[in-house]
Amino acid sequence: MSKLGCVCGHLIVDQTDNIIYKAHFVRDQDKEAIDTQTEDIEAFIEAIRKGERDNWLNNYFGSDIYKTLPNSSVVNDIICRYNVKFESEMFVCEKCGRIKIQKGNENKFVSFQPEDNQWSDIFKGLTKQ
Ligand SMILES: [Zn+2]
Repeated sequence: MSKLGCVCGHLIVDQTDNIIYKAHFVRDQDKEAIDTQTEDIEAFIEAIRKGERDNWLNNYFGSDIYKTLPNSSVVNDIICRYNVKFESEMFVCEKCGRIKIQKGNENKFVSFQPEDNQWSDIFKGLTKQ
């Protein structure tokens, strides 16, 4: 999603990082599946210990471009694969406070209206206090 229209007329724009009106979420029923990323990371560490790093990377990613990347980049991409698969997005309309929640992994959003006026910083990062 790069732009999402709200029924109030405001256009929600998603074209940068660190957006105060955007959040990511994982459904509770997918939490266990996403937690298995640690097993993949453990398998990667074990492959390094056994001297089978390149072979493991080929099998896991189906590509040899990872051979030259540092381990931290590999671990980051393992985590990213899970995020892409299980994370969805939510936006709060900065004009009216409606929350737009992504339906499944489709490019569809369901809209909810707030019941009070405490929504303006609802998705403000906890590190940004
Ligand atoms: Zn709106």
